Amino acid sequence: MKFAKLRRWMVGLAAGLSVTGAQALPTAAPVTPTHDDTTIALTDANVVAIDGGAPIRNATVVVRDGKVVEVGPSASVAVPANAKVVPMEGRWLIPGLMNMHVHFGLILPGAQGAELANETQGEEALRMASNARKSLLAGVTTVRLTGETHGVDFGLRRAIQKGEVIGPRIKTAGEIIVPTGGHGFLEADGPYALAHAVREQIKQGADWIKIAISGGIADTHGAIAAAPMTDEELSTLIDVAHRNGIPVTAHNGSPQAAEQSLKYGIDCFEHGYYLTEANLKEMKAKGTWLVPTIVVTQPGAREFYKKIGSPDWYLARVDATGKEHWQMLQNAIRLGVNIGLGTDQFPFEPNDGTTATVAEAELYVKAGMTPLQALQAGTTQTAKMLKMENEAGRIKPGYFADIVAVDSDPTQNISALRSISFVMKNGVIYRDDSKGYMAQF
Ligand SMILES: [Zn+2]
Repeated sequence: MKFAKLRRWMVGLAAGLSVTGAQALPTAAPVTPTHDDTTIALTDANVVAIDGGAPIRNATVVVRDGKVVEVGPSASVAVPANAKVVPMEGRWLIPGLMNMHVHFGLILPGAQGAELANETQGEEALRMASNARKSLLAGVTTVRLTGETHGVDFGLRRAIQKGEVIGPRIKTAGEIIVPTGGHGFLEADGPYALAHAVREQIKQGADWIKIAISGGIADTHGAIAAAPMTDEELSTLIDVAHRNGIPVTAHNGSPQAAEQSLKYGIDCFEHGYYLTEANLKEMKAKGTWLVPTIVVTQPGAREFYKKIGSPDWYLARVDATGKEHWQMLQNAIRLGVNIGLGTDQFPFEPNDGTTATVAEAELYVKAGMTPLQALQAGTTQTAKMLKMENEAGRIKPGYFADIVAVDSDPTQNISALRSISFVMKNGVIYRDDSKGYMAQF
């Protein structure tokens, strides 16, 4: 296909896609985003106090070359003469949201999954690019991918960096490494094969290593609570990753597997369905992260599972897991475990009348966090988890200009996140509902 024709086809494809759910996204003609060398002043804004304290009212934020250069009350911030002034009309600015458990290529059991059974790698890449775009437009400016296939994630990251497609900043774990029959695709058995698999992912560009040390809800065999890896296997693969400066996260619902892997210095658990109070206390003591993905097992996800045609056995497993998962989350919050917001659904997926990312934050509040803590779980905490705390997660001079606007202060009421109407990443505006603007590519 000639380039021009391909581009027309892709633009048409994008125009045909729309994010469903409570936030109807306006569409606009394809516009090339302004380059990141422009200077933008966001005026008439309120800036949320992401580290606590008082917000900045009637604020101006100046952005240049993709970074925040100045933030303060309008009276004390001079708008540079060459700046493009974008009035925020009293909206509240928060740091761009960061979602720590995302699969852009997610395929779940059910009718929708069956339709994708013969998906080619080309189709997979385009579908992932579309999901990346929709995630960014939903206010998620950074994602950590926790398991993709065919290396598409590495290619997508490069394409986003080059400006070929739009999407969030990507940190990725590459393929999920598992023992044969485990919850993932890259199977390896024994310490040597696992060490090789870890090194292979790092060679391709993985920022994290993701392993599965227990079963999952979508598995048709093996129990969620099983711990199928040997000590030798686990200790070796964690050691090899750490020697390369790469943290390791594990899909895990099992207390036994948690205890085993904490012994070898695992950095993070995904889901944590059945983690016990003893597990959580040890995590707190060691600073181990938890990415709860609570949205997947709670009632708000029912509609989603119906939509994708999930089989009955799957729904039964979700229900059975949901109650213990919820209790585990309440315990983790009470004990002060490090929590990074992650959904395991597309960040923009409709959930409980909003997106999965926002629903996840709301559930954290319901489970015991303050609204400020829930917002931090998706901004400052996630930045810390990614070792990006000096460059992302705050609206602060020197930080990436990743900024989202909402109608009111989410540190007072977390549901303010339902009103996302403006998205900037790296100093480029991708969405501004007040101007009817929505970037296509
Ligand atoms: Zn997952």
